[in-house]
Amino acid sequence: MRRHRRAKIVATLGPASSSQERIHALFEAGVDVFRFNFSHGSHAKHRARFDIVRKIESEVGRPIAVMADLQGPKLRVGDFVSGEALLEQGCEFRLDLAPEPGDARRAPLPHPEIFSALEDGAEILLDDGRIRLTVVAHGADYADTIVEAGGKLSDHKGVNLPRVPLGLGAITPKDQRDLRFALEMGVDWVALSFVQRPDDVAAARKLISGRASIMTKLEKPAALDSLAEIIDLSDAIMVARGDLGVELAPEDVPAEQKNIVRAARRAGKPVVVATQMLESMIYAAQPTRAEASDVATAVYDGADGLMLSAESAAGEYPVESVAMMNRIIERVERDPAYRVFIESQNYDPEATPADAITAAARQVAETVHAAAVVSYTTSGSTALRAARERPGVPILALTPELATARRLAMVWGVHCLHTKDATDFQDMVEIACSAALGQDIARLGDRIVITAGVPFGTPGSTNVLRIAWVGE
Ligand code: PGA
Ligand code: MN
Repeated sequence: MRRHRRAKIVATLGPASSSQERIHALFEAGVDVFRFNFSHGSHAKHRARFDIVRKIESEVGRPIAVMADLQGPKLRVGDFVSGEALLEQGCEFRLDLAPEPGDARRAPLPHPEIFSALEDGAEILLDDGRIRLTVVAHGADYADTIVEAGGKLSDHKGVNLPRVPLGLGAITPKDQRDLRFALEMGVDWVALSFVQRPDDVAAARKLISGRASIMTKLEKPAALDSLAEIIDLSDAIMVARGDLGVELAPEDVPAEQKNIVRAARRAGKPVVVATQMLESMIYAAQPTRAEASDVATAVYDGADGLMLSAESAAGEYPVESVAMMNRIIERVERDPAYRVFIESQNYDPEATPADAITAAARQVAETVHAAAVVSYTTSGSTALRAARERPGVPILALTPELATARRLAMVWGVHCLHTKDATDFQDMVEIACSAALGQDIARLGDRIVITAGVPFGTPGSTNVLRIAWVGE
C-alpha cells in the first residue's frame, strides 16, 4: 500500500470518528497522521481510539503516526448568571478574579497572570475575536474595559490577548497529566499549544525526553518574534491559523503562513498548515472553491502536512473531507507548474556529509530517472534531510526503529518501511531493491539511488551513495 502524493494528511479524531470502521475508512481515504485533541474527550476515549489506530496499523502493515495535541494555557472567561450576557458597544465592562457569575457589566476571569501582565490600552479578545475590549484601568485582580465590538458572550468562551506576553508556561497541570498519559500510551508526536518563547519548547523537551517528537504550534504572535530559535528547538512546526488568526488581522495571516513554511523548509523541519482548510465540509459534502484553493496553496508552498480539525473530528463528512483533501493534493502535485513552485523555494545543502549525500542523491536520481531515493535512517534525520531536498522522485526510508518509521509519517515525500538494517554493501542493495519492489515504489529494471552510512548500523553516519538496478 502506498500513497501517490508527497504532502501528508493529518486528521483529528473525535466524536464523528471513533468507531473502528470510521477510523479505518479515514486511513483508506488518505490519513497519514491521526491527531488526538486533548482539549476534548476523556483519557478512556483517547485510549480506545489509540488502540484502534494501532490495530489498523498492524492490519495494513504501514506505520501510522499518532499526535497528542495538548491544550496548553488556553484562557477562558468564567460563568454567567444566565449562561450568557449581551455586551454592548461603547459600554464599560469589568473582568475580575471574583468567582460570582457574570452579567452584562462584569464577568469572572480566573487567570491572575493576565491582570499582572496587562497595560492600559491593551486589547482583550473574547470568543474567537468576535468581542473586542480595550483596557482603561487595571489592578492586581481586575481590569476595567470599554467594549469596542460587542455581542453575546456565553460561559467559558476563549480569551485572547494579542501581544501581551503572559508569565505562563506552555505546559499546564492538565497538560502534564495528559502528557504523562499520552507518552505511556505511546504517541509518536506531541503538539504544544500557545508556545510564546523558545524556553517553552525547551521545557517541554525536558519533560518528553525523546519519547515523542515535538510539534510546536505557532498561534501566538509573540512566538513569531523568535521564529528561528523556536524552529531550531522543535522537531516540527504547525501554522495554527485558528488562534493565530484571532490574534493577527486576517490580512496578516497569509504572509505569516508563507514565511513560517519557508523558514521551516529552510531548517529541514516538517511544517503543517492547520485549521479551516475545508471548514465548510463540517456541514457540506463539497468544499468552497476558496477552501480548495487554500489547500492547494499549502501544497504549492511545499508544506509537509495539511490538517483537518472539526472536519474529521465532529463534522458530518469526515471521510469525504479526507478524500477531498487527498484529491486536491494529488491534482496539484500533477500540475507541471508544481515542481517550479517547489524548486523555487529549495535551499542549498548545509556543510555536512549527510546533506552532501542527500543533495547528491536527489540530483543523481533526477538525472538517471531513478524510481526513488532509498535512505537508510535510524533516527530519521537522514530521511528529513532527503525530504528537505524536495526531490522529484519518492523517498523510501528504511529504518530498523519502529518509532522512527511512525514519526516519519509526518514528513513530505517519505514512504517509510520498518525493516532490518543492512550488514554489508550487498545486503544494503538487496534490502533496498526488494523493499522498493515490495512497496510498489519501483519495478524490475528500474534504477534506485541508495544512501546509507558505513560502518553499517551506526546512526548519524550517512556517507555512501550507490546507484542500483532493481533486479540486479
Ligand atoms: P486548536 O489549534 O485547534 O487546538 O485550537 C489549532 C489552531 O489554533 O489553529
Ligand atoms: Mn489553537
